[in-house]
Amino acid sequence: MNQGKRPVPDLGIPQNTIEILNKYKFVFQKKFGQNFLIDPHVLDKIIKAADISEEDFVLEIGPGIGTMTQYLAASARQVAAIEIDHALIPILQDTLKEYGNVKIIQGDVLKTDLRQIACDMNGGEPVKVVANLPYYITTPILMGIFESHVPVKSITVMVQKEVADRMQAGPGTKDYGALSLAVQYYAKPYVAANVPPNCFMPRPQVESSVVNLSVYKEPPVQVKDERLLFAVIRASFNQRRKTLQNGLNHAPGLGISKELTVGILEDMGLLASVRGEALTLSQFAELSNRLSDALA
Ligand code: SAM
Repeated sequence: MNQGKRPVPDLGIPQNTIEILNKYKFVFQKKFGQNFLIDPHVLDKIIKAADISEEDFVLEIGPGIGTMTQYLAASARQVAAIEIDHALIPILQDTLKEYGNVKIIQGDVLKTDLRQIACDMNGGEPVKVVANLPYYITTPILMGIFESHVPVKSITVMVQKEVADRMQAGPGTKDYGALSLAVQYYAKPYVAANVPPNCFMPRPQVESSVVNLSVYKEPPVQVKDERLLFAVIRASFNQRRKTLQNGLNHAPGLGISKELTVGILEDMGLLASVRGEALTLSQFAELSNRLSDALA
């Protein structure tokens, strides 16, 4: 930011948030995962982790009453903030009225064409995504951004701590799974801070973490068929206690026999009894490339 320079009034201060909530008689909607940040130090940490400068175009998902939006607007060139809750729009128009570089968009992020926004508002150049995410749709939001190839430089998000742990887990650990591999295919994850429930209003029942995902220009592994790679990954983790050959064999629509998988695993120097959780991303890439050749 304008590091250290705080917005006035700073909605990160609980009294100011309470004042706005009372002024508009705002009723929290649990179904929208509404937990508003009320800690300026955490807000500073998010801005720092996102490394926002005056050149950046920031896409914020779920601005709430505009707390983080104020911090982003003070640091970035332009901010577009997408909020689903109609009741929050007049509040945002009030709390953000001093900022000429914020566009508020009412809508469901899962139904919004983010590529189009990046195209229209940032000339198709990579944007930075920053959000205190609604936890009920963390994975669909992130996978939607990755899979629809929105031009993105980095994604800095508050997520459930458990989800952050899964994002950065490696093979052989209990947290390693389809989410770890999907995230690590597209980006390099880094946990910038752990955040306790008392930094939010109302308090969530879970611990949270700020994760920075630095998005790769090119994936770290070469894959012939991305859809097959992710289908293979999902099938391998569907039933964790199953061997990889069984998981793939039982995956509907894939049509992969046990013999084919075992033959490929042998060629790769892996045991027929190996489980999905033992394979690295590059081993999954090799497996899916070999399957792609065999199924062609
Ligand atoms: N950014 C604010 C903050 O940090 O105080 C609010 C964060 S709150 C955890 C999540 C926000 O996302 C809420 O404002 C909620 O209404 C909004 N939201 C929930 N589902 C959404 C969706 N599908 N599309 C856009 N916004 C959504």
